[in-house]
Amino acid sequence: MARYTGASCKLCRREGKKLFLKGDRCLSDKCALSRRATVPGQHGAGRKNVKEYGLQLREKQTARRYYGVQEKQFKGYYVQADKKEGITGENLLSILERRFDNVVYRMGLATSRKEARQLVRHAHFTLNGKKADIPSIILKVGDVVALKEKSRGSEKFKALIEDAATAVKPKWLDIDLDAISAKVIALPQRDDIDFPFEEQLIVELYSK
Ligand code: SF4
Repeated sequence: MARYTGASCKLCRREGKKLFLKGDRCLSDKCALSRRATVPGQHGAGRKNVKEYGLQLREKQTARRYYGVQEKQFKGYYVQADKKEGITGENLLSILERRFDNVVYRMGLATSRKEARQLVRHAHFTLNGKKADIPSIILKVGDVVALKEKSRGSEKFKALIEDAATAVKPKWLDIDLDAISAKVIALPQRDDIDFPFEEQLIVELYSK
């Protein structure tokens, strides 16, 4: 399935939740969801009765859109999560959090996951000292992401690094803003993920 290229705000309105897909705009009063919270489309305002399957589907779509993952890839993460020991829903979120693009976003070096994905694709980062430009790589404990030397002079990154200095940092990443790098020091736990997912609904959907 092709990547969604339509308006990001429509996805938030579809899920009825802020998915933070547009960086600073999401925190401002320009946020489309704050201004108009109905589902897009002619009959959006009238759609209310959601059954069990609908809730499960919406939760899966919310997680998929939040992390910017395509359907097939998302199912693949679920299969991986189900094979691991522990709680499948939490394993799934831990995998999604460790995507290369999400780590760049969590470092504060992109204003949204979409932007992080582009920056990774444009090869601004290294992984364990080597060139890496695949946003979907799942990082392991011990992996180190760093901004490339030649990207460090850019005004864009300078401004992002300045903002990142005062931002809350995830416990599972050791972020060094002098070296402009981050090391994965632990697997992300459920309480490290600040979005109110009901991941059990996703597990129920795929377990049918
Ligand atoms: Fe979603 Fe951000 Fe658009 Fe608000 S501004 S609707 S949070 S993408």
